[in-house]
Amino acid sequence: MESCSSSSIFCQLDKEFSKEISALLKPPSPQQVQEYFDKLVKMRQCNGLKIKQDGNYGKGVYAVSDFDEGELVLKDQMLVGAQHSSNKVDCLVCSYCFRFIGSIELQIGRKLYLQNLGLSARMECATESSDEEDDSLTADHDKLGQCSSSNPKKKIPLPKETIESVMNGYVELPYSKQFPLPSAVSCSGGCGEAYYCSEICAEADWEFFHSLLCTGKSLGTPSREALLKFIQHADGTNDIFYLAAKAISLTILRYKKSKAAQFQEGKHNETNGNDISDFSLLLEAWKPISMGYKRRWWDCVALPDDVDYHDEASFREQIRELAFEVMSPGILNIKNFVWICANHSE
Ligand SMILES: [Zn+2]
Ligand SMILES: [Zn+2]
Repeated sequence: MESCSSSSIFCQLDKEFSKEISALLKPPSPQQVQEYFDKLVKMRQCNGLKIKQDGNYGKGVYAVSDFDEGELVLKDQMLVGAQHSSNKVDCLVCSYCFRFIGSIELQIGRKLYLQNLGLSARMECATESSDEEDDSLTADHDKLGQCSSSNPKKKIPLPKETIESVMNGYVELPYSKQFPLPSAVSCSGGCGEAYYCSEICAEADWEFFHSLLCTGKSLGTPSREALLKFIQHADGTNDIFYLAAKAISLTILRYKKSKAAQFQEGKHNETNGNDISDFSLLLEAWKPISMGYKRRWWDCVALPDDVDYHDEASFREQIRELAFEVMSPGILNIKNFVWICANHSE
């Protein structure tokens, strides 16, 4: 591919593993999809539900029995999720289950504090000027006023000390005790980026995602440099890359887990040749993601009105090139990161 010539080593990987890559990206058959979801529904013990497929509309969740009022119909674990970077200024949430953490005072104080630093996150607060974040503290106070009041002139900015004492819990806001929040548990890797509502969430996140994505210095992770570059790119372009990194991290960790389990069992099975290949383990680890198969963006985006039907092929090619232009540094960083993780895990 011309577009990734900036780093020929990764194109080499694309060539070398083209068979594996196309196997991973192949859409699952309707039968595979049905089997996967039937198994999932059974595992989650949601007896009144069924996933059905429809050639025109895709997958759907159907009720196959009547439910009582207030009955819990479905409770499932989130596969992969991430908080928008811009939303991080507005609220402090558990990095695994996304519930609010800390206290009402911390939530409000932190938000005011970060806004005062010029990290205003909400689009409606932003003026047209792109350099507004470089404005002085006074200007930021003004912006804050404009956001939260219909009459900005009357708004008196809060002193920095007041904001800090709210954030640090020295000031108690009225009725805040009626809304208790779980206290924040910080990431054991020491990245200072991930906080949790409980040890349970901290451990689960580490097990499923964060152990490969933590930038904590003390970990001595060989991929830390690549990871920091990747985060910088995601922050500067599109935070969908975080979600992609989590999906990949989940897959690698699931793969490592089943490989370790196979190794344990292998001691017993070696003689009867009951050995599952590494690649089929990887396919199995990737399965939950592959079940959400969609065609690539440039293959399925709707044709704009002003593009003639006959020009469809060249239009899609243009969109594909655009996507590569925007995404290639992120993809290369992901590839670099995956490559380091994979080699490190041997
Ligand atoms: Zn949580
Ligand atoms: Zn961490």
